Amino acid sequence: MSSQRIDPPAPGGVLTAALDIGGTKIAGALVTTDGTVVHRVRRTTPAREPVGTLLDTVHQVVNALAASPLWEGVRALGIGSAGPVDLSRGTVSPVNIPAWRDFPLAASVGAHPAVAHRPVVLAGDAVAMAAAEHRHGAARGHGNALCLVVSTGVGAGLILDGRVHQGLTGNAGHLGHISVDFDGEPCPCGARGCLEGIASGPALTRHALSLGWRPDATADASAVAAAARTGDEAALAAFDRAARALAAGIAATAALVEIDIAVVGGGVAQSGEVLFTPLGHHLRRYAAMPFVRHLRAVPAGRGSDAGLVGAAVLAEAAVEDALAHSSR
Ligand SMILES: [Zn+2]
Repeated sequence: MSSQRIDPPAPGGVLTAALDIGGTKIAGALVTTDGTVVHRVRRTTPAREPVGTLLDTVHQVVNALAASPLWEGVRALGIGSAGPVDLSRGTVSPVNIPAWRDFPLAASVGAHPAVAHRPVVLAGDAVAMAAAEHRHGAARGHGNALCLVVSTGVGAGLILDGRVHQGLTGNAGHLGHISVDFDGEPCPCGARGCLEGIASGPALTRHALSLGWRPDATADASAVAAAARTGDEAALAAFDRAARALAAGIAATAALVEIDIAVVGGGVAQSGEVLFTPLGHHLRRYAAMPFVRHLRAVPAGRGSDAGLVGAAVLAEAAVEDALAHSSR
């Protein structure tokens, strides 16, 4: 396990603990109210192991956070988890963690002795990312925003009227599984032509290969991006198709709820201009109605710690809401 201190917070500063739980890693952090990560822990997710081993790993991450002298200042704990999640029941069923189906994650973390009495707030990872980008990143100052994570999958979260919009079960804004190609490939979710099946890193890599791109080494989205930068036509076409699917999804969202910015993060977004140039081009074509014509898609501002920072933002907001209610 790596465990590393970064900057101490201001004396007496309030901190929020955060967990980011995904199929490859379980990360933990202590986060200040201005979104700075001051203590960080990370373990590999034993994704194929039984329920108990997985929970043990989560508790080890909490132990490592609680061992910090800063733990005293922690007011609440936020969890961003790979989905689907069910906030109404506090459970998660991450696609890439098969042993957890309707797993009571919020209660299991809340039962850790060090967490005792502190509120535990659960959210989906893409919603957490949206919260981070809205409070401390590229969507800051925007009342209505769509924040996407484009990597192994495609996830998204919505900011509406200045607030994170989670929906009844916490999955609102799940853009990866809207259909942008009605007769397209069947998707594991049961639908056809889902955005994720076209724009995710593995999907665009498969498409580049099908068009004749031949990788020098590993065939992944960053290798396709490198080839696209050298002018490889198959690689450029694969990015163009992914960008077009993303633009259609973003434009549909804009027409539906009038967002004024789309923030795009995740591994595929790190390809930079190879993605954002065709994305801007297709967005101008699909976002055609006068009220969405100004719409822009921009790179995320918070990088890979957005999930942790967002989980902390949501937990902080829940504490503030509770305090406001109790003082009324
Ligand atoms: Zn689907």
